[in-house]
Amino acid sequence: MKAAVFDIGATLVTGPPVAPNKVIAEMLGGAEPSDVAAVIMTQPLFTPEDAAAALESRFGPLSKSTLRAVAELWNSQANAAQEIEGAVDTVLALKKRGFKIGLVSDIWTPYYLSVRRAVSQIVESSDAVVLSFETGRRKPDLFNFNRVLEDLRVEPSEAVMIGDTYQHDILPAIELGMHTVWVLARPEREKEYIARVLNADLPAPNFTVSHITQVLDLPLFCPEKVLGREKLV
Ligand SMILES: [Mg+2]
Repeated sequence: MKAAVFDIGATLVTGPPVAPNKVIAEMLGGAEPSDVAAVIMTQPLFTPEDAAAALESRFGPLSKSTLRAVAELWNSQANAAQEIEGAVDTVLALKKRGFKIGLVSDIWTPYYLSVRRAVSQIVESSDAVVLSFETGRRKPDLFNFNRVLEDLRVEPSEAVMIGDTYQHDILPAIELGMHTVWVLARPEREKEYIARVLNADLPAPNFTVSHITQVLDLPLFCPEKVLGREKLV
């Protein structure tokens, strides 16, 4: 194994419980959250006004109160990310063991700014960072997965994808031939996929953990443990 590729939201950081595209979809009176994500997460937006203009070009004119709400959301998102306890130490430990580190995230600009503050050591130690607002593509599209592997100069079979969302992190990585670790940080949101994996209706990840720090103990990242096991057999 040469590289560990991490999702960001709910894998390395927690933020507000509701994603910004869902909050904005609500403000717009029932737009589809995925349509909102396609606007706010696939282009670089530098100010709340940029976000408002992008939303208006897709959904039509916004009322003054909605414009205010978008600006408030932007400001809260720019300070919302918090490290999941142990995430920084986990990534730095893998780096120290010699693994290349990649990040792949569907994310909009203000939240990424707060991620950079919350887990600056992770961002700084990463060898490749692929973000939806820079590439214009979102998971489960394989584009960003292929991009991070290219940037890390590794084959899919030499990399592990670590993420909390089966549909967006795990399944596409399995399709590509990457190893996978499913972090069940929010199992209630993954119920449907947990059931389908247990029923062998969907392919299982290589490993499932309940907290990011457990990644360090997986045989994928501990060659000596694998050896120990072989000796026992
Ligand atoms: Mg996530």
